[in-house]
Amino acid sequence: MTSTPFDWNRFHSYRVFDEFLDRFVLQRKSYVTKHSDALDLATAFEDIRGRFCGDSYDDSDAKYEEKIAHQFSDTPEETKIVFANVEYLWAMPVANLRPRTKRAYGERWFSGSDLLVEGDRYFFGYPNIIADPGPWYLRNKYWELVALLRVLHLVVSESGRGDVTMLKRKIAGICHRAIYEGVPSGEVFAAPIFCGVHCALLHLADPERYESIISASHRRQIISVFRHVVRKPSSDDEVLLKQIREVLYDAHGIGEEADRKYRWFFYSKDVQPLWIDKKTPKQQQVSSAVFDVRNEEEAVDLEGDVEAVSGFRIRRSAKLVKAAKKRDGHTCRACGFHFEDQIVHVHHLDPLSEYERPQETKLDDLITLCPNCHYLAHYWLREDSRYKRLKPLLAVLKEVRSEK
Ligand SMILES: [Zn+2]
Ligand SMILES: [Zn+2]
Repeated sequence: MTSTPFDWNRFHSYRVFDEFLDRFVLQRKSYVTKHSDALDLATAFEDIRGRFCGDSYDDSDAKYEEKIAHQFSDTPEETKIVFANVEYLWAMPVANLRPRTKRAYGERWFSGSDLLVEGDRYFFGYPNIIADPGPWYLRNKYWELVALLRVLHLVVSESGRGDVTMLKRKIAGICHRAIYEGVPSGEVFAAPIFCGVHCALLHLADPERYESIISASHRRQIISVFRHVVRKPSSDDEVLLKQIREVLYDAHGIGEEADRKYRWFFYSKDVQPLWIDKKTPKQQQVSSAVFDVRNEEEAVDLEGDVEAVSGFRIRRSAKLVKAAKKRDGHTCRACGFHFEDQIVHVHHLDPLSEYERPQETKLDDLITLCPNCHYLAHYWLREDSRYKRLKPLLAVLKEVRSEK
């Protein structure tokens, strides 16, 4: 549908990420401060490791700020510069830290603010950030920094020559493995828990391919509720998220609003309520069914006014819907519910095919169901695709209804 590529560089995060990699990793110079000397990154990482990790890790209840003030007292300036850059990259792309706070992290290391770069092209909030990662990212700051140190340490020690594009490919690979395979505990800067910074870096490294969703539970909830809308779901959850977005956007998207598609689609106000806080498999299943039934019903409601409402592409012919209701006598085929030719839904036996071939619906594909049976039908469809066939579907619905 879209022909012009989305311009990510309109937003500072993406530009800064590229500049940061070029200056810090490739040129080995400070990005966030005005120091211009080349940095000995290997030595600085080693020093940080000694102060910040391992035996020197302070697992007391003291505040992060107090801990690092203690751990980094008497630190050589070069180590401070490197740490300030790492902390900058952690804070830079997120919404739930104010630009002033992001700046203060850098300022604490150096006397006077004149040693920091200036302006809102370096310290910014919405809309230039990539996401709001929620409270975990801030509470888990220590491990997030350790995880970030590991990624940077890896690319710094591996990168001989190369360019930013190559670096980003490497970073995406490292982060993808960290999210899905974990990090071996023996590795340098190995964080033992999920770190959102991997998701942030993954997205920054390849925003076309990876969604800007930082929270692990959000990823799980979205996939669980919407997996079924994709005909051939990828076994890679990252790819699957994008597949889901493509299908849902085509169904719900509003024409030319590319920002809505690429920036926080799953968090838009009509999509987020469908999956957020659906924590148990049961809740997720119910939510899937509600979503499908709502789509079917809205598709029917909108048929008379297709041109005026551009929200849905899934359409069935109003004639077919009428014909199905007439054929079935406005009666639920499963339980026999009938109410004055009203309160009857028209269910598509293979709802998925509507996403792919919206035009080809036939009368035989449709049956009337009462609202209760309709929700149950979608529940069973999620369990087993054999309920796309009329007989097994009616059989299971009758069975459930007669169990009472
Ligand atoms: Zn019924
Ligand atoms: Zn249905």
